[in-house]
Amino acid sequence: MREKFLAISGISLANRASVRGFSCLLARPKLGLILCLLLLLAQADVFGDVGQSSNSRGSITKRSQNYLAETTHELRRVLGYQPKTAVELEFVDLQQYASKVGKNSWAHAVYFNNKITIALRPELSRSRNRLRRLIRHETLHAAVDLISDSQCPAWFEEGLALLFEGGHKRALSRALSDYLRERNPISLHQLEVNFAGLDKPLAEVAYGQSYFAVQSLVHRFGFSGIRKYLSSLGAGRGEKGAFYSAFGMNLSEFEQQLGVQLKLWTNGGRDEF
Ligand SMILES: [Zn+2]
Repeated sequence: MREKFLAISGISLANRASVRGFSCLLARPKLGLILCLLLLLAQADVFGDVGQSSNSRGSITKRSQNYLAETTHELRRVLGYQPKTAVELEFVDLQQYASKVGKNSWAHAVYFNNKITIALRPELSRSRNRLRRLIRHETLHAAVDLISDSQCPAWFEEGLALLFEGGHKRALSRALSDYLRERNPISLHQLEVNFAGLDKPLAEVAYGQSYFAVQSLVHRFGFSGIRKYLSSLGAGRGEKGAFYSAFGMNLSEFEQQLGVQLKLWTNGGRDEF
């Protein structure tokens, strides 16, 4: 049984000790813990806490519920996501959040056991788009967790979450292109389970490469392929079997093709996806 992974959009992984603390939770299989820092929060400074403002909290809660409903509906159509019980939204102030998941300044939300816990930070009340992306990202994790029976590899799930949340990925694309100018891509096997132990620069590369890989699959096979892959994982076909069933090629073949695509992309001098 696969250990559920920690998924951090690696922007500021300065506090590795706390990350390792999370890993303790992750050691319990199938609990569905997914911790996410959204790419959009990459530029976030150290903010205060908006939890004390009932108006802000009420507004964020209402908008989040709307985004959750909208995203759930969309995921039902796109991936066949049909949650048996609605995903719960929980809003906590920064102190509560820290006590739940550790004092990670980079962590803004966590999906665990059918609940999305969101740290109430001022930027969420300032930007509708940030909150919407956060909810979309976390809800995608909830959907993948259910459909794949918690068997989805980290690179696929994070790449899909980044794709689904929308928005620019400039920090990740630059980190990836810089990395690939001097090194080979990270093997997908290394990206299967856990990004948590990675240093910040490598974490950015891992997320960037995951996004690139999933984007490539979506371009070629559409969301019907993605849906089939997740369903096959959920049916217990295993990672390799599910991959072949959905995309008609071995994972190793895809990885080889991905390497060529990444090389072309890098040689093209582009630093945006
Ligand atoms: Zn994530």
